[in-house]
Amino acid sequence: MSLTNDILNKNTLNKSDILHLLNLSEPSELDRLYNKANEVRKQYKGDEVHLRGIIELSNYCARWCTYCGINAGNKQLERYRMPVEEIVITAQKAWELGYKTVVLQSGEDKFYTIDIVEEIIHSIKTTTSLIITLGLGERPEEEFIRMKQAGADRYLLKHETSDKELYKKLHPDMSFENRINCLKVLKKLGFETGSGIMIGIPGQTLESIAEDILLFKELNIDMIGMGPYISHPNTPLHEDFLKLGYFTPDFKVDLEELVYKIIATTRLVNKTAHIPATTALATTNPASGRELALTRGANVVMPNVTDIKYRKLYEIYPAKACINERPEDCRVCIDKRIRSIGRIPA
Ligand code: SAH
Repeated sequence: MSLTNDILNKNTLNKSDILHLLNLSEPSELDRLYNKANEVRKQYKGDEVHLRGIIELSNYCARWCTYCGINAGNKQLERYRMPVEEIVITAQKAWELGYKTVVLQSGEDKFYTIDIVEEIIHSIKTTTSLIITLGLGERPEEEFIRMKQAGADRYLLKHETSDKELYKKLHPDMSFENRINCLKVLKKLGFETGSGIMIGIPGQTLESIAEDILLFKELNIDMIGMGPYISHPNTPLHEDFLKLGYFTPDFKVDLEELVYKIIATTRLVNKTAHIPATTALATTNPASGRELALTRGANVVMPNVTDIKYRKLYEIYPAKACINERPEDCRVCIDKRIRSIGRIPA
């Protein structure tokens, strides 16, 4: 028996097991990892692929995240903010298209006060049976409580990296402790809670990614989103990216393959979690990124249901997948892609 086989047959993986899997490069060993992750996905999550329609409601942001194209410092970006009625209508359209869940995502935009957020949740809940996921960034506990009471079901807040020094560099105006505390509060309040990371950030290491995977488990995260970092030219981190490339200079990685290895390993460690095939991955490989992720541990896809006129402005990174597609076209395209690999759109 090889070490890889021994690890794949273990029920609980430790950090060195995880690092071993993340370092695999031999095609036959990678196949074994992917097959095992696919088996575990089938056993714990079944063949259904869950669809979550994303509404990107505002690209205004008060934060200075150095990798993100909509950060407060990007003066070149045309900003937009969807009015409440339009958000509700977009959610209703998603419901009519057959979505069961919508994700309301935005920059950290103070315009959407807790009163307004409550109003949006009420209006969607009284006119549809949609499950509501929010991704509005960090908020005080009192606001999370009111969102939950208003009927919100889930919250997404990626921790991005567990390397505290790197976190500080990426988020000069934020604290890692507060991010993790928000995740704990969300769990405590009964939200289905999503976290996640970006992969390939200059300065990131495989060791910290192994820690990320263990942190998802420690926090009992319900949904884990992992996608490649895609450098945006109008961001402070772009300069580092041009100098260092993905990861550190002495660490040459095939980023796409690394993302699959991380998704597969995360599935082995977090067997019951939802794992989406992310839009960032579909941007890196538009032809088959989503399909490959879905056969290597992922079980969720998050098609965009935002109106075309806003899509290109929610430019967290350039050339985002499906930027010119209408919501109804996305729905059909994703359905076909899921069926093409023998899976069932839920
Ligand atoms: N303000 C919200 C939503 C942020 S955008 C929040 O803080 O949760 C959603 C996700 O986009 C982020 O969590 C991050 O993981 C991803 N993202 C931002 N910039 C990116 C980039 N350049 N490349 C890849 N992913 C990026």
